[in-house]
Amino acid sequence: MTHGYATDMAAQIIDGKALANRYKETIRKRVQALRDQDRSVRLDAILVEGDSSAGIYAKNQARSCDELGIKYVLHELASDAGYDEVAGRVLLLNADEDVSAIMVHLPLPSGVEEDKIQSLIAVEKDVEGVNPANIGNVVYGRRSLVPCTALAVIEMIESTGVKLRGSICVCVGASRIVGKPLAVLLMQADATVISTNVHTVDRHNFTRHADVLVCAAGVPGLITADLVKPGAVVIDVGINRIKGKEGKSMTVGDVAFEDVKKVAGYLSPVPGGVGPMTVAMMMRNTVDAAER
Ligand code: NAD
Repeated sequence: MTHGYATDMAAQIIDGKALANRYKETIRKRVQALRDQDRSVRLDAILVEGDSSAGIYAKNQARSCDELGIKYVLHELASDAGYDEVAGRVLLLNADEDVSAIMVHLPLPSGVEEDKIQSLIAVEKDVEGVNPANIGNVVYGRRSLVPCTALAVIEMIESTGVKLRGSICVCVGASRIVGKPLAVLLMQADATVISTNVHTVDRHNFTRHADVLVCAAGVPGLITADLVKPGAVVIDVGINRIKGKEGKSMTVGDVAFEDVKKVAGYLSPVPGGVGPMTVAMMMRNTVDAAER
């Protein structure tokens, strides 16, 4: 017993990779069905050159699309591209009937406002759900393309069989792309939702009551066992590069995994948790957009 909270059983691990593979099977069939009807399933991404991690992300995206039979077209713009060039490309893709889904890799060059570009993406092709109209649609309970990471978290919670309706959900982190849309989705599922952020005082007073605890803060080791209600579902969204043993660089989440495993009922690992599910949700959003 590390913190006096340990249960007899270790948490069940939510295997994001295995879950993503199951979703991919269904997505592949849906893509094939569309292609059989001569309908296009195509994701177009705009990448302004200069950021190496965005480049790696684009390569991984291309591979995921290829696996599922989705056509992927990358539009690489020079590192000095201005607002008109990026905006012009988005508008061209909006008008192109062969393009099912659009995303814009971040960061954009300084002077090109992300918000303005994201608001230009056609609502029905906005595969990352970054056009404000899409999250507005969620609030109004309309069918919508929803940010992929938030969607991944919901699917992972549901995979445990724990019911969201009536449960207390605490989100640690309230960013525009993860924490806030997630809180809205949880509310839509009739959960009681508490959203916390870096300014929240005495965080443990909230987290310890959570039936479902989601952490998306980007702070390694932030969630320790004493912050977790025994038996809770704990979803770790964080992706942090740290120096591990012998100075080797490694990827960890926001949850102190080994400690929390002794207390939680279900726990998602990093890597192999929310990451692969986020990719699967982007692929699913692409097919949703194509079907519409
Ligand atoms: P962000 O920096 O935009 O937002 C962080 C949020 O966490 C803010 O609301 C901030 O107030 C809160 N926060 C920061 N420190 C805190 C603390 N000590 N206590 C409580 N709240 C705190 O980050 P983001 O873009 O939302 O990403 C968060 C993490 O999730 C990062 O590690 C990121 O790499 C990861 N991420 C993972 C995926 C995925 O697919 N798995 C996708 C997006 C982001």
